Amino acid sequence: MKRRVFLAGALTALAAISSAQAQDYPTRNITMIVPFAAGGPTDVIARIVSGHMEQTLGKPIIIENVVGAGGTTASTRAAKAAPDGYTLITGHMGTHAASVPLYPNLAYHPSKDFEPVGLIAGTPILILGRKDFPPKDLKEFVAYVKANTDKLNVAHAGVGSVSYTSCQLLNAVLDIKPTGVPFNGTGPAMNALVGGQVDYMCDQIVNAVPQIQGGTIKAYAIATPERNPSLPNVPTTKEAGLPAFQAQAWNAIFAPKGTPAPIVAKLNAALSKALDDEGVRKRLLELGSVIPSPAERTPAALGALVTSEIAKWTPVLKPVTN
Ligand code: ASP
Repeated sequence: MKRRVFLAGALTALAAISSAQAQDYPTRNITMIVPFAAGGPTDVIARIVSGHMEQTLGKPIIIENVVGAGGTTASTRAAKAAPDGYTLITGHMGTHAASVPLYPNLAYHPSKDFEPVGLIAGTPILILGRKDFPPKDLKEFVAYVKANTDKLNVAHAGVGSVSYTSCQLLNAVLDIKPTGVPFNGTGPAMNALVGGQVDYMCDQIVNAVPQIQGGTIKAYAIATPERNPSLPNVPTTKEAGLPAFQAQAWNAIFAPKGTPAPIVAKLNAALSKALDDEGVRKRLLELGSVIPSPAERTPAALGALVTSEIAKWTPVLKPVTN
């Protein structure tokens, strides 16, 4: 009996401490883990929103790029971090969905080991080629990659990344098996594409827009039902003759499981405020992102998205065995 009273007292005291902590939160710097190299879509998106969120929260958000294994190294680290709101991760469709079927021994589960904070942006997928890649349009691209598959190099950000997953889908649609060249993120992969060291890539729109506009790479098509306002001249895969290839990704903020709900709510409110800011919106839209509606930004909506994305990718992707 005495023991039970003691335990109940201790639990109440713990709850009081954690609600006081949540009220004061944040009292120090927050670390935002980015699971890919600097300069890629995840990094760019994380920096845009964190830059605004830290004004609302009153403490700096420090970006830490933790690379490797298609974003799963960083996600493992974030899942195991103290659930106190001081370590967050900007994950995406790869780290928090496609990684599940690809890695049978994944050290975390996107639904069970994280508290969803909120969706930052939707990111359409593009088929991109080096500037002097011979095909002129998507029809020629299809014929060319089918005829030359043994000689081609496809850049991606590691097994489990969005670029890997979306080009796996494209390869399946075209029934080809080109050689994959992994990078620590599509920032460095984009540099290799611009430099002509790789032939093509499938990736999130974000860091491709400035390159396409500058003519340093080719864009064959966007894999969404509609064209994107930031790239009005890039046809959809449907318009360009490959309607079977449809792909969209997303980036979102997650906290380790057990992060107190009031802290998650504070972070979510700061994220939503950032997404309503004119400057933030302008930068995200210029880079081709799709800004979620208020209803799509809630932790519950992100939790549901993760569940549905895992269900969507599980029958499509085969575990990586080597
Ligand atoms: N877009 C990359 C991917 O393929 C990652 C990155 O943001 O660099 O998952």
